[in-house]
Amino acid sequence: MADAESGAVALVAAARAGDARALARLVSQVENGSPALRAIMRAVAPYVGHARVIGLTGAPGVGKSTVTGALVRVLRAAGRRVGVLAVDPTSPFSGGALLGDRIRMQDHATDAGVFIRSMASRGHLGGLSVTAPQALRVLDAAGFDVLCIETVGVGQAEVEIAGLADSTLVILAPGMGDSIQTAKAGVLEIADLFVVNKSDRPGAQDVVRDLRGMLAMGSWPAGGWKPPIVLASATSGDGIDELAERLDRHHAWLSESGELGRRRLARARDEISAIATAELRRQLGIGLPGESGLDELAGQVAAGKLDAYSAADELLGVRDRG
Ligand code: GDP
Repeated sequence: MADAESGAVALVAAARAGDARALARLVSQVENGSPALRAIMRAVAPYVGHARVIGLTGAPGVGKSTVTGALVRVLRAAGRRVGVLAVDPTSPFSGGALLGDRIRMQDHATDAGVFIRSMASRGHLGGLSVTAPQALRVLDAAGFDVLCIETVGVGQAEVEIAGLADSTLVILAPGMGDSIQTAKAGVLEIADLFVVNKSDRPGAQDVVRDLRGMLAMGSWPAGGWKPPIVLASATSGDGIDELAERLDRHHAWLSESGELGRRRLARARDEISAIATAELRRQLGIGLPGESGLDELAGQVAAGKLDAYSAADELLGVRDRG
């Protein structure tokens, strides 16, 4: 174990000194649930807390990747180091090829101030709820100032992303059907900022108007944060400076109001419980289908030979509960 410890410390030191390959290896080890993961996270822990985390969500096609690319450009011009994680909780496939296709940021490929990676759920216990926050911590420790986390999936994934971010952007665009309706299910509530992208397309103003109408129905406490709406065209870069400025303001508000600390505490709680839950499942032998002691009990319950409560007791080693 001493070897794993010193190896992890050396790798983290190299990543902090700007070694891009060391950083890529660390992120891969997090993603793959490497046996060295615990040693890595111990080595990373003293260096976290600097980076701001921005989550980007929205229906497929609204321009998340393009907005991310445009935002990276503006942040780089301001001298900030930026990490981007694109996560796809719905796909077990690695996103290597996906990344080149979806995140049009080739112009950042040789920039040491930018790190881009897409992560897929590899189907291991805990999945992205365990690996995504750890990957963010690794990038934070490596000295990035801003971390963008973008989800490829839809639905629940968007809400989970909000749990990882200091600031959550909900992106809408005209011509995507009834985009506000689409976004309604739980997503509007998580927005710290709205981006109405594709301002160069007809209908963008209508989306802004609908959104304003909806926000007018909400109520915000005095000193609270009312999500602003930024109209942007990610392909031309219009509005992206304003977006960066609004994000700065949101971050300042988070710090001043104490909300930043509260969000980070909530995030750490989620992280711990995701890891502990995965560990508990492992100890109980609740694996993925096909590799689990659960399968036999499930067979008995499905066949009506056992009820599910008794099966759960058996799994937990509980006897004679009555
Ligand atoms: P994602 O699926 O949400 O990540 O969306 P993408 O970033 O892949 O963009 C989807 C499509 O919309 C691509 O063809 C982009 O070139 C296009 N797109 C993105 N932003 C804009 C914009 O501001 N204006 C226009 N006209 N097209 C855009």
